[in-house]
Amino acid sequence: MKLDPSAKYVLDRLRGAGFPAWAVGGCVRDSLLGAEPADWDVCTAALPEQTAALFERVARTGEKHGTVTALLDRPIEITTLRTEGAYLDRRRPSGVSFTGDIRADLARRDFTINAMAWSPEDGLVDPFGGRDDLAAGVLRCVGVPKERFSEDALRILRALRFISRLGFEAEPETDRAMRECAPYLKEISVERVYSELLGVLRGKHVDAALLGYPEVVTAAVPELAPTVGFAQHSPHHIYDVWEHTVRAVAAAPEDEAAVRLTLLLHDMGKPSKYRMDETGRGRFRGHGAAGAEMAEACLRRLKTDRETREEVTTLVKIHDEPLPDTEAGMRRLLAKLGERQVRMLIEVKRADGSARAPASAESRLQRLSEGEALLERVLAQKPPLTAAELKIGGAELMELGVPSGPEMGRILEALLGETLDGTLKNERGPLLARARELINE
Ligand code: ATP
Ligand code: MG
Repeated sequence: MKLDPSAKYVLDRLRGAGFPAWAVGGCVRDSLLGAEPADWDVCTAALPEQTAALFERVARTGEKHGTVTALLDRPIEITTLRTEGAYLDRRRPSGVSFTGDIRADLARRDFTINAMAWSPEDGLVDPFGGRDDLAAGVLRCVGVPKERFSEDALRILRALRFISRLGFEAEPETDRAMRECAPYLKEISVERVYSELLGVLRGKHVDAALLGYPEVVTAAVPELAPTVGFAQHSPHHIYDVWEHTVRAVAAAPEDEAAVRLTLLLHDMGKPSKYRMDETGRGRFRGHGAAGAEMAEACLRRLKTDRETREEVTTLVKIHDEPLPDTEAGMRRLLAKLGERQVRMLIEVKRADGSARAPASAESRLQRLSEGEALLERVLAQKPPLTAAELKIGGAELMELGVPSGPEMGRILEALLGETLDGTLKNERGPLLARARELINE
């Protein structure tokens, strides 16, 4: 086990003061997997007061539950060993009591692969067979799965997150309990649900996770329920709306959370917009706009930050519109969305396109690469995309006698519009001449 230097310092310091201490949870799991742990957690028999006294700088946010964060090269969370009382409200334990027993602390943890501890003195402490499950790729609750998910339903989404990240399979009893207890997710705070949902979406094995557990996903995002099994009756599609959705999510880059979130929601408007045409083909006219409305409501309910909500909603709305095929059209799109969002739109369309029937995917992806080439060509010309980038501004217009205010705004917008269209050059002379004409209009 390769200990992080800050974690090693914490373990040494606690042991030196006579308190048993272990690295615990995710860092042990990830180390055994040969992966770099995202953060290092330590548990100890020392009480929070005793822990805090051993380090120069600490943050004491989670003190109620016995957590002290030592502020070292990297912050290390140090938690006093504890057991939890019964869960009465399916959210939090009725009480927490400190213990000196590492096994008792590990027993309250969610999955065997997360219920291991390690110290230089004891080596691996693994009372529930976490190491074997890790080697076999098995996700297994500590204790009776149904009880553990009834205590805290967020664990179901955590399970899905580990399945998505690690490609593991839930053992049969854990699998069954995930499905049976999924309705309890409605009782969990939306902030916790949203954050785990993003974790699920970021996984490398997101397709297996989402396709394997539609009842879990739709418990968290009920708006998606009608898409599951919804046949498209279209030559462009070989999957139902849900499977298409999942394959699109999985086709997008793992680190693009907003793009993956967009793809999860992109076709949620399809079931309500379904019509069969004269030839017996499924049509979904207007599903982008309908989906955007649903996505907006859904993201508000999940308390998604405003920037992400607006980005995702816009992308859902226009995901099915073709990209512009002229320079002017591309400039207008850039002015409206900004470069970042146009690039996101391309990622969305690429993933959406690749999850279609092969012939349809091929033609979509072909058109998309033409759109992308057009985007690069337009960006290379560094066109003005906002009024502020025009070669004349408020000062020049004032000299022409335009008062600042709505009139000035109107003229600047008109000038920008014409440069975007390509009918006006972004040069002082032409801009001033055109401004004079606009003043008299
Ligand atoms: P990550 O690498 O994503 O941080 P993690 O396993 O470290 O994964 P954390 O949320 O940081 O996850 O939690 C740390 C540890 O606390 C877990 O490994 C697990 O042992 C325990 N734990 C966290 N949440 C729960 C929960 N809801 N129920 C039971 N145990 C939990
Ligand atoms: Mg962690």
